[in-house]
Amino acid sequence: MCYLRVDNEKCVGCKTCEVACSYHHEKIFSPRIASLEIRREDNEVGVSIIFFEHMTSEERGKRLPCDLCKGEALPLCVKYCPVEAITVQEAGCG
Ligand code: SF4
Ligand code: SF4
Repeated sequence: MCYLRVDNEKCVGCKTCEVACSYHHEKIFSPRIASLEIRREDNEVGVSIIFFEHMTSEERGKRLPCDLCKGEALPLCVKYCPVEAITVQEAGCG
């Protein structure tokens, strides 16, 4: 079993993971369909990494659920995060 671990403290808010995720799903660069969203809340210094399963139906909109990047050697949000804010916790992804 494989799952992702996120570290909001490390995240710099670059949103590369959103773009990478959309590429995994549809081979396009469109964060609107990504399974995760980077949020910078008002009055908060840091950012939060929110996954599809923790979103309301309204927040999900056209987003697609995370499939842990089935078919990829490494989840693309993990592969392209420049600061290792998202990591794989166990082998068996892809
Ligand atoms: S594991 Fe893949 S599908 Fe899931 S959030 Fe990361 S990039 Fe998107
Ligand atoms: S790619 Fe990494 S640093 Fe950039 S927004 Fe996503 S989790 Fe944060």
